[in-house]
Amino acid sequence: MRSSVSAFVAVFTCLTASAADRPFAELPYTPSLDVQAMDRSVDPCDDLYTFACGGWQKRNPIPADQSSWSVYRKLNTEMQQYVWGILEEAAKPAANRSATRQRIGDYFAACMDEKAIDARGLAPLQPALQQIESLRNVNELPKLLGQLHASMFTSGLLFNSGSQQDAEDASKMISGVYAGGLGLPDRDYYVKDDDRSKETRTRYEQHVTKMFELAGDTSSIAAGRAKTVLRIETALAKASLTRVEQRDPYKIYHRTTLAQLQKETPEFDWNTYFTTVGFNPQPWLNNAEPKFLAEMNRVLGAESLADLKTYLRWGVLDAQAPYLSKPFVDQNFAFYSAYMRGVPEQRPRWKKCVAWIDRDLGEALGKEFVEKTFPPSVKEKTLAMTRQIQDAMKVRIEQLDWMSPDTKRQALAKLQKMRNKIGYPDQWRDYAALRIEPKDFYGNVLRSMDFEIKRQAAKVGQPVDRNEWGMTPVTVNAYYDAAKNDINFPAAVLMPPLFDPKSDDAPNYGNTGGTIGHELTHGFDDEGRQYDGDGNLNDWWQKKDADEFERRAQCVRNQYAQYTVIDDIKINSELSSGEDIADLGGLILAWIAWQEQTKNQRLRPLDGLTPAQRFFVGFAQWDCANERPEDLRLSAIVNPHSPPKYRINGVVVNMPEFAQAFECKAGKKLVKKPEEVCRIW
Ligand SMILES: [Zn+2]
Repeated sequence: MRSSVSAFVAVFTCLTASAADRPFAELPYTPSLDVQAMDRSVDPCDDLYTFACGGWQKRNPIPADQSSWSVYRKLNTEMQQYVWGILEEAAKPAANRSATRQRIGDYFAACMDEKAIDARGLAPLQPALQQIESLRNVNELPKLLGQLHASMFTSGLLFNSGSQQDAEDASKMISGVYAGGLGLPDRDYYVKDDDRSKETRTRYEQHVTKMFELAGDTSSIAAGRAKTVLRIETALAKASLTRVEQRDPYKIYHRTTLAQLQKETPEFDWNTYFTTVGFNPQPWLNNAEPKFLAEMNRVLGAESLADLKTYLRWGVLDAQAPYLSKPFVDQNFAFYSAYMRGVPEQRPRWKKCVAWIDRDLGEALGKEFVEKTFPPSVKEKTLAMTRQIQDAMKVRIEQLDWMSPDTKRQALAKLQKMRNKIGYPDQWRDYAALRIEPKDFYGNVLRSMDFEIKRQAAKVGQPVDRNEWGMTPVTVNAYYDAAKNDINFPAAVLMPPLFDPKSDDAPNYGNTGGTIGHELTHGFDDEGRQYDGDGNLNDWWQKKDADEFERRAQCVRNQYAQYTVIDDIKINSELSSGEDIADLGGLILAWIAWQEQTKNQRLRPLDGLTPAQRFFVGFAQWDCANERPEDLRLSAIVNPHSPPKYRINGVVVNMPEFAQAFECKAGKKLVKKPEEVCRIW
């Protein structure tokens, strides 16, 4: 993934609108190389990031409703404002509204009606809370959990389930059961003993207490119940894999039959659960983390029914708080955004509604968006660039001096099979079965989740849909999917300032070319290289070549492990290595593609920068950013991407082409000795 923006956005909740907020009738234009974003007083040979982004950092303070601010986030906000305009239009009841416009417009109208939402208070949740209360024994839990998962899928209550491609046979869709059940953003928060982790646990316990009070408990009962929640979640956390362990695909794949799973976890009737939730676990499923399920089984046997109910009640309150009345929304914000990320203000309601519509009706909204903003000419241009990057990788593989011909053949075969998807899906998702009401916000949320889980469940046993997208067209991000072996670039990530049809080639190749190269390289990073061209977990490497790859990957890990995120926290480069390898490989590919693109052109300096300098400044400006300290601390634990400064400086320090472009002398901070340069692809 290129950025963690979209993953973070969904967490926020907000109520107040600032005066500057308005829907956009047109998308604003920023050039792909923005000279005003630069700070030319800084020597690029010491710090390219600040040279390219220092001006941007000064002129773009973090808005009060954001945990950090960056070129991607700013563009994302502009997209939201543009989409806001589409939704306001669509919400007007007109006789000739299309079914698509009616659906997104009605969702928006219901979502914006805060008065109606506040008036309902906790009422929308009462049926679920009542179901939990009437649980008579632990044997009834699988059915209840199935019902709760089916209607509130995203909550991951106790554990997660879903459908996935089978890692050993990627042509098949199977069911999967995964770790889950935690309220804090990572298992580390429950197990680490440093002062900050302890403080976070105390603050979390206070937050759980307050939420129980809002749901009607007395203070002393609420405080006791919060301790129960912490005890159960801590047990689950201790049995969960770390984020680094989860990067090993073999550690999260355990093909098993339903009978075998039942034998290993006798306290939980899986047949009832799967039947209720609608998943078919035949002939086998993936028990991603057996140790986690074993611990869950132990918890179910050891905890009293009353305490299990307390845990379930918390899980439902926690997952649904953003959709309830103001007191719940405020308390949820106070902990997850204000305390955990340092965000001073809640986001305006419209932003939240735009984000939820993008999540729940993303391809209906995306269709409207693409028709207005993404002309075929841009699709053609970016597709051509993507092909050049794929060609560049072919050249690189053929030229590698450390890989044997046998492994090269396999790598080229995988590259050959890699598909690219640009802009939007060929076939839009059909939402006809999803009922959206103009006056029932909470019902819309629940029915959307139900629609999504049914869609996931229906995949099991069916052929893999290789045309499906994992991101919506309005998303400012991109991804590589190892199981499908494809690279995906939503329309919104192919717009200025990231890709600028009006610009010279250099900044476009540095920026969007680098992004395309980044996603492609994920297919060949330390995680992605373990999959073959068909998406199967399959070791196609000669031992000697695999060792050589590892040695080179370790060079990257050692380099990034020296960078400080904040305070005394260094980058966890075991977690970030896939992204760091993709950043490095991506820019090398973009450079080769740019050379190829311009080989017969006579290029001239522009804005006081040579063409090669424009390539590197364009690259650096993809990630100009400002960050809050709280958000950096959280990112150090959960975010696989290194901080922006190192995603720029950490890459170019390994490219002699950069030192040459800026005529950097030996001894400068971004000039390595040749023998210290890390290079994989
Ligand atoms: Zn990535």
